[in-house]
Amino acid sequence: MSLRKLISLIILQIFIVSFVNAKKSRDRIKIGGLFDETTADAENVFKYAVEIMNNMRDPSDGHLEAITKRIEYGNEYDASKKLCKLMNKGIMGLLHGPLSSNAATHVQNICDAKEMPLIETRYDPATQQPVINLYPHPSMLAQLYSDLVNSFGWESFTIIYESTAWLPIMHELLKKYDNKGFTVTVRQLDLIGNQNYRPQLRRIRLSGDKKIVLGCSADILPEVLKQAQQVGLLTDQYQFIITSLDMHTIDLEPFQHSGTSIFGARMISPDDPFVKEITDFFIEKHKSEKGSEEKASDDDDDEDEDEEENDENEDEEEEVPEGLTADKMRLDTALTFDAVLLFSQIVKFSDSVQPKSIKCDDDSERTHGISDIMAMKTVDKRRVKGLTGSIHFDQKGHRSEFLAEIIELASDGIQKVGVWNSTDSEIYLIKAHDSLSGFGDELSLRNKSFLVLTALSAPYGMLKETPDTMIGNERFEGFGIELIQKLSEKLGFSYTFKLQEDGAYGSYNKETGEWNGMLREIMDGRADLAITDLTITSEREGATDFTMPFMNLGISILFEKAKKEPPQLFSFLSPFSGEVWVWLIGALAFVSCSLFVMGRLSPAEWDNPYPCIEEPEVLENQFSMRNSVWFSIGALLQQGSEIAPKAPSTRIVASTWWFFTLIIVSSYTANLAAFLTIESLSTPIEDVEDLANANGAIPYGAKKGGSTFSFFKESENPIYKKMYEFMNSHPEHMTSSNDEGLERAKAGRYAFLMESSSIEYLIERNCEVTQVGGDLDQKGYGIAMRKNSPYRGALSEAVLQMQESGDITALKIKWWKEKRGGGACDDAGSDSGAEELDVANVAGVYVVLISGCTFAIIVSLLESLFDIRNRAKELEVPFIEEFLNEAKFIIKCRGNVKPVRRKLSAGSLNEEESRSVSRSSESPKREIIGPYGFNGPCLKNLTKLDLMADHDDDDKV
Ligand code: GLU
Repeated sequence: MSLRKLISLIILQIFIVSFVNAKKSRDRIKIGGLFDETTADAENVFKYAVEIMNNMRDPSDGHLEAITKRIEYGNEYDASKKLCKLMNKGIMGLLHGPLSSNAATHVQNICDAKEMPLIETRYDPATQQPVINLYPHPSMLAQLYSDLVNSFGWESFTIIYESTAWLPIMHELLKKYDNKGFTVTVRQLDLIGNQNYRPQLRRIRLSGDKKIVLGCSADILPEVLKQAQQVGLLTDQYQFIITSLDMHTIDLEPFQHSGTSIFGARMISPDDPFVKEITDFFIEKHKSEKGSEEKASDDDDDEDEDEEENDENEDEEEEVPEGLTADKMRLDTALTFDAVLLFSQIVKFSDSVQPKSIKCDDDSERTHGISDIMAMKTVDKRRVKGLTGSIHFDQKGHRSEFLAEIIELASDGIQKVGVWNSTDSEIYLIKAHDSLSGFGDELSLRNKSFLVLTALSAPYGMLKETPDTMIGNERFEGFGIELIQKLSEKLGFSYTFKLQEDGAYGSYNKETGEWNGMLREIMDGRADLAITDLTITSEREGATDFTMPFMNLGISILFEKAKKEPPQLFSFLSPFSGEVWVWLIGALAFVSCSLFVMGRLSPAEWDNPYPCIEEPEVLENQFSMRNSVWFSIGALLQQGSEIAPKAPSTRIVASTWWFFTLIIVSSYTANLAAFLTIESLSTPIEDVEDLANANGAIPYGAKKGGSTFSFFKESENPIYKKMYEFMNSHPEHMTSSNDEGLERAKAGRYAFLMESSSIEYLIERNCEVTQVGGDLDQKGYGIAMRKNSPYRGALSEAVLQMQESGDITALKIKWWKEKRGGGACDDAGSDSGAEELDVANVAGVYVVLISGCTFAIIVSLLESLFDIRNRAKELEVPFIEEFLNEAKFIIKCRGNVKPVRRKLSAGSLNEEESRSVSRSSESPKREIIGPYGFNGPCLKNLTKLDLMADHDDDDKV
């Protein structure tokens, strides 16, 4: 072989070797990563990402190789030493996990000096910004959160931040709002540094600000939320915006049922198919790595053990680190993948693929490092889409043109509610939210837990009557308690009852400007709902929200029942008014006179007194004045008389009078029955006007601080105003509960102003009291909750549904009529039925009878005396003798025959004889001389008694 040929061969070999070496070097593009034990997920993702890139890359573009080093967190010396080792191995780019600020600065300085492309995946305000940072710049985040605050319409809010590192984000927010005059309060979370955030959180609660922007890292977020919950900031009246982009990675389950609106943002979209594909690969890769590790360690085990191990493997399979899943991946982990992706794209087009071992202690540096970095900044976003969306940088090198998902902590976990686009700085809310925008869906009450305030007021909220000791919700029963129970079944919330010990419902004190009672508890967030006989008023509506009314009512009067008046002696006169009686007597007199006059005018009424005499010398008329009156009275009393009118005129008068008396007597009888059985009730007041006009003679009051009292206080009506003044100046008549009012009303002469539904309940059980007068107004009871509560709509709808379905009516019947002695006074209503009359009811009639009889006796005595006097004159004997004779006869009470005493002539029977003759019961008939002086045949058969009877009739002419 010639020397020339040998030289050619050597040159060719050198060329081939150097070509092969060059090719080999280009095939292996090393990328370095610095991680510590806290960033195991990022380290895994770094390796998996390199593998994915290699699978995707054209082999001619070279093979990426991941070289990682674990460093001790916070140890800057260790970090720089490991970095030098990596550079010594010829890495062409570096990325790292979380480092302490000093270590990060150190690493950055070294990379700058050696022209080593460093891709940062996190934001550390304490370090100088690296040339390439995939983490969104604070100004971008400030824009995001201020857009969020804008779209929620917050006007005033509190910013609370963990450390000054968060201020750039907050500062932007503050700058944005302070010019507009909105109140923005800024507080630092932990002033002392002992991880006790409660003092500051408590201050926020006391400030009353319900809208909070919380700037803290995901590491302390669970603790902050826990302490916020402890001080009462995590209730449904608060809204939070959490500025950590890793909010979705922590366990929020303990807070998701609190009802608090917690919002945040994330840059990873778990629903994105690309993200799904990549994270699925991570999980598979992790599982297969785990599997092969275990397989290697199981090689020597026997079969039985294998079985056990397989079971364990199955369990372990489920234990994929959450940080590798799309739902729980941290932003720096995702950015690690994106950094590898970005690096892979750059080296593909870079000329600087020649690896070079760089030593920290000499002047060596990476060739074209700066140009590669510049290339990264101008990367074509259309070609690089990572786990956090498209990767693009603006002029200043800040991450730009990306999307962030707006998320909310709902009762079933994190939910995407909107999207923010960094390009047009716009929030697109997918789900309109009532608590944010004021429109849209109501919050679901499912799985929410409410503290429900109630007060002891029958039958709305009552303590159970049982000898057993009850705790919790079991202590209570009543209409309101059951209503809440039914609503909870309907809407799926749970509840705990709390008792309002002082029984105050809520009234506004204009002097102090403070609310009290149950409403105050609601407003201060110490309770979520309040139910009892809580009236919806416009004043209360201004401070809290109410559901639709579940019961309607009005103010009325509770008063003792009217007492029965004692029956009147002359109650039989009651059917007719005094006027009618006077007219009746007038009619009687008029008809009697008519009969008398018409009887005298009518020839038919003039009769022959002795029919045996065909041509009498005189005629007789039966309608003397006395007989006319007697006839009229007989007809009026439905008894008739022996007098019968004969002439047409008198018959017409008689018929008309009979008809008149028929109607009058029927009306009297009908009315008498009612008057005798229904005794009139006497009540001193009929309505509220009587009460006001009584000027305190009947004291009255209402429940202190109740809506009834407020009604009178606010009213412009002069009567109600007067009543308010009375009540206001007589606090001793005001009560602290309806029960107290009831007791006072029962005691008598006290009117309690209260609501008709409660009156209805009380008069079912307390028969001594009743409702007096109608309702003064119309209003309703509602369930109170905080102002702008998102649950109002759902609760109102459920209340309406229960009304429509009759559930509320059924509840009312149960608690008003059935439970706790309902219906006890139902019998009292049967007062209107027939009742037996007692002596008092008919005493007047007896009085009339006795008076009539007494009068008759007096008249008969007078008659008798008159007759004795006449006879004494006629017989010419002293009055006293004749009187004694007559008295003797009467007192004997024997015999129905009385002799006629006559004046004795000489030679006639002496007095004794005469008496003996006359007292004989079988005395012979005397010769009787007729009125015309002869003994006619018609008189033959007349006995002495007949004649005596005829003789009595002095009407005969
Ligand atoms: N329902 C009333 C209220 O809500 C209490 C009773 C009353 O004032 O009559 O205040």
